[in-house]
Amino acid sequence: MARIGIDIDNIVHISTTRSTACVECKSADTTQGFEGAVNHYLTAHNYRLLHVGTESEDGTDGKPPRLSTVAVLGKPWVYKHRSQRDNSAQTPT
Ligand SMILES: [Zn+2]
Repeated sequence: MARIGIDIDNIVHISTTRSTACVECKSADTTQGFEGAVNHYLTAHNYRLLHVGTESEDGTDGKPPRLSTVAVLGKPWVYKHRSQRDNSAQTPT
């Protein structure tokens, strides 16, 4: 199958209203704020920033919707398989 553009192996979704541990290394770095989480994926795991936007969650008990900033990051295919490629003397053309 031909591969065009940036091939993404894994997608992560980060939100200012939720904090989750890094899916790659379970590092606590990603709990240090939205920016910290984005920077961690970019620098520690070579993820690419695919999208930044907003999303809303329905308010409960008559409260207004909650707005949050979200980032979607993707892990390029090449990084996951780089070690296999490095073992090959030939570069695909
Ligand atoms: Zn990590």
